Amino acid sequence: MARPALKTSIPYFVSDGSVHFRLGGELTSLEDADGRVLTLLRLLDGTRDLDAVHRDLSADYPDVTAGDVRDAVRDLDESGLVQDATDRGEDFDAAARERWSNNLGFFETYATLETSKYEFQRRIRDARIAVLGVGGIGSHALIDLVAIGFTDIRIVDFDKIEVSNFNRQIIYGEPDVGRTKVHVAAERARRLNSGVRIEAVEAKLMSADDVYAVVHDRDIVIAVVDRPKVHVVHWLNEGCVRAGTTLINGGVDTQRAMHYTMVPGVSGCLECWYGQVRRDDPTSRMVLDALDDIDREGTPYGEDTAAFNGLVVAAAAHMVSEMVRLASRVCQPLSVGRLLEQTFHDPRVHEAESWRRDPDCTVCGDARPSAAHAWLARDARELPF
Ligand SMILES: [Zn+2]
Repeated sequence: MARPALKTSIPYFVSDGSVHFRLGGELTSLEDADGRVLTLLRLLDGTRDLDAVHRDLSADYPDVTAGDVRDAVRDLDESGLVQDATDRGEDFDAAARERWSNNLGFFETYATLETSKYEFQRRIRDARIAVLGVGGIGSHALIDLVAIGFTDIRIVDFDKIEVSNFNRQIIYGEPDVGRTKVHVAAERARRLNSGVRIEAVEAKLMSADDVYAVVHDRDIVIAVVDRPKVHVVHWLNEGCVRAGTTLINGGVDTQRAMHYTMVPGVSGCLECWYGQVRRDDPTSRMVLDALDDIDREGTPYGEDTAAFNGLVVAAAAHMVSEMVRLASRVCQPLSVGRLLEQTFHDPRVHEAESWRRDPDCTVCGDARPSAAHAWLARDARELPF
């Protein structure tokens, strides 16, 4: 049975016969004419189950029933003010508790009687993830993911470090010029957390099979792979659908940053999306066909010499946050089946495109959600995909 505890991360004060809680600028007020609310709140210290709370509260307020206590605690839970103290996070040792203390404080604000703050951190710790491409966005994302508490990470890249990377790839330094990115990135990640398991794979992804080989045992991947420009997104899509791995794919396009998420068996995949575009939008069809030809023929198509750190950092932050939402289930993901974009001159994030699952899709038509993402399939009706 749950032992409800008032969250210490959400302070309250008493004024004008009410108890007021303040979280993120929002005020939640509870009327308390005779002090019974305040007495109840003080009893919610995580040492009592609901029966014990009722027993101790009814000593001072004999008219309070067990049903009253149950309803009041449910209301407090729905308002996000209580958590369950049963899960004491005993699988986190003293060093882990110190390292993640600020995360736990943050997750406590989202905790409920059903899901503890430790459970959110535990899901992050236990998720199997990958970062495909540790260049501009991927190198920022990797370090953020390690900082947040992901501990089982595969990184994949084939590139070597060049001076022209340093306007945005700040985990690398001048002594690293000429070295392979994955190995330097792994060293940097281990310096931040010596307990992280980083598997560095030096490889160029040139087919859906190549993608499958590096994602088949991963729950979620962040992909920031920009070569070959058009084909690689199809390979990422197919490899992840085949593996049942959720794909958070993104990049920067000069002044614009964008990302989307594909959950096999839950959302539409890239082919569902492009199929919809080809049917509905002749201009986009023309562009897709032209880029497809350029990619196939290997024709040079502009120089990759335009990228700016501010936009790269913002894109990484959005993709990392989406990884946290998906892995921890702390709240719903935002970019599933949607392309979200922002520009440097107007960094407000907005939906550029959205698409639905095509039941006849040749790539994902038969896909079923993996165990790690069955919860999204359950909640899919409330989501915009
Ligand atoms: Zn599809």
